[in-house]
Amino acid sequence: MQVKPCTKCGRPSFYYRPYSGEYLCKGCFVTSIYDITLQTVRKYEMIKYGEKVAVGVSGGKDSVSLLYILAKFFKSNEIIAVTVDEGIKGYREEGIEIASKVASQLNVKHVIYSYKNLFNYTIDEIQEYKGKYSSCTICGIFRRRALDIAAKELGAQVLATAHNLDDILQSYFILLTNGDTERLKSFNPAVESSEAFGIRKVHPFFRIYEKELAMFAMLKGFDFQTVTCPYMQQGIRSEIRDFLNRLEERHAGIKYQLLDTFMSFYSKEFKVVGQYCKMCGWPSKNELCQVCKTIDYLNKNKYKLMSENNELDKHSD
Ligand SMILES: [Zn+2]
Ligand SMILES: [Zn+2]
Repeated sequence: MQVKPCTKCGRPSFYYRPYSGEYLCKGCFVTSIYDITLQTVRKYEMIKYGEKVAVGVSGGKDSVSLLYILAKFFKSNEIIAVTVDEGIKGYREEGIEIASKVASQLNVKHVIYSYKNLFNYTIDEIQEYKGKYSSCTICGIFRRRALDIAAKELGAQVLATAHNLDDILQSYFILLTNGDTERLKSFNPAVESSEAFGIRKVHPFFRIYEKELAMFAMLKGFDFQTVTCPYMQQGIRSEIRDFLNRLEERHAGIKYQLLDTFMSFYSKEFKVVGQYCKMCGWPSKNELCQVCKTIDYLNKNKYKLMSENNELDKHSD
């Protein structure tokens, strides 16, 4: 079979991009990922001249790619890589190692924030105390806060994370299935409302397909972590992912259409009522923030378990 020429430069193509109808050679494909990212950053005013940018880097393909692109194209900005250490033995060490290596290759400062230091629990430790909650739910609550704290302590104006188009769409569908219309209206995948002390939370990859980011990372020859978290329980998220991929296969570009539809729900006037958590002082929708509620729940379960064990010890004496 004859290889089609690249739509942009005429060299032999290696990839057909169904949603745009383009055939792309490797060079033009890589350039297109730069272009989409830079256009997204510019259009949504994600990063301004001279601002300090904290980047969440787990060591996976998306975050390594994001760090690379920001370090390459935003020379007027100080870029700092932030890795969150959840405390998962046999898993997180590799991600930290990769993140450190990539950051030093790119001449970027790298800092690590651990759940143990911030919240007094590792994800390994909560397994006994998490009760009805999944590890992913608790980990998500802790991760957001850990990154917020990092950005604030580093004096960053921007916190960039590598969520891609697929991640964002899955989150939208989860909000839909939960009936969370409030969040549907207040969720802006480009620039999240900066509840934490005026830090702008941005997603420069939110218009890029997960599959294309994987291809980009491979073509660039990046090191990245491929093993998934041992506690990962995706539940409905993985079913939504499969469903969206099936739709996209037969209706190229439908993910973009869905994204635009969801984004049209966003209402600028919609403001989350802001107050401060009475325990930790962090901006919160309720008296107690989610982080403090979670820690309180874990503490109670831990205490209960300890006293039950003491009872058992007494009986066995
Ligand atoms: Zn080309
Ligand atoms: Zn709190």
